[in-house]
Amino acid sequence: MKKIFNSITIFAIATLFLAACGSAPSGGDGALNVLASTTFLADIAQNVAGDRLKVESLLPIGSDPHSYQAAPADVAKIAESKVLILNGLEYEHFIEPLLENTGGERLMIEATTGLNPKEDAGSEHGVDPHMWLDPNLVITYVENIRDGLIQADPASAEIYKANADAYIAQLKELDKWIVEQVDAIPADRRLLVTNHEAMGYFADRYGFEVAGSVIPSFSSNASPSAQEMAGLIDGIKKLNVPAIFLDTADNDVLAKQIADETGVMIVADLHLESLTDGAPAPTYIDMMKDNVSKIVEALK
Ligand SMILES: [Zn+2]
Repeated sequence: MKKIFNSITIFAIATLFLAACGSAPSGGDGALNVLASTTFLADIAQNVAGDRLKVESLLPIGSDPHSYQAAPADVAKIAESKVLILNGLEYEHFIEPLLENTGGERLMIEATTGLNPKEDAGSEHGVDPHMWLDPNLVITYVENIRDGLIQADPASAEIYKANADAYIAQLKELDKWIVEQVDAIPADRRLLVTNHEAMGYFADRYGFEVAGSVIPSFSSNASPSAQEMAGLIDGIKKLNVPAIFLDTADNDVLAKQIADETGVMIVADLHLESLTDGAPAPTYIDMMKDNVSKIVEALK
């Protein structure tokens, strides 16, 4: 009997201690455990959650979700989550088998819900998931995340609404800033060649033409045929494409071959699929600004 009493006392003290910590974000006991599939989504969601919740990223910084191989620890992280935020549109191809093997119940939020994706019938990955590279589409991400967090934690609804409004204002500022920056690029040099087809939404919004990609797929997890490579080299020569843009996580072997044949410049340090630990892309907004600065510098 005494032993049970002691346990209750310890529990009571622990509860008091947690209460004393007040509004400090915590993914631990008692708090809603919110997990996002990858780093930039965790940052976007954290802006909506504010001080109420800590949003963790399942994937570590620097990983490419297209080619990510799940680790056993990922199953445990998902099992503990009460809210799981995904981009959707087949971006998290690794998640389906994990969810099948995971117990517990959680609210799933697909950030792209309600948006119309670009389709490519010839691609192995039928739809283009890279909607976050247009900040205007990220406004919908924020609204979906806000509505999901309110569903999971109705008591904090007003806080999530206010946080979402404030972050949407920042996204609109970011959009304006990008339009101003891109203005420095002459119209005939607004050409994007990337490693895989990642920048279609960005190109649509900011008046670029996607002149080709090293890997003609919506995923980095594919490879081009010799014929496709030859076609791209021709296109780069014809259009006088100034640069090929790669993500830091991309393999640059094929891009270098193309550069050898065409003289095109390679910009190999964009951050399209992951934040960085500290500068230059510790947040989604920083990531976009860093990418745009590098694109403008190369094309202006
Ligand atoms: Zn991608």
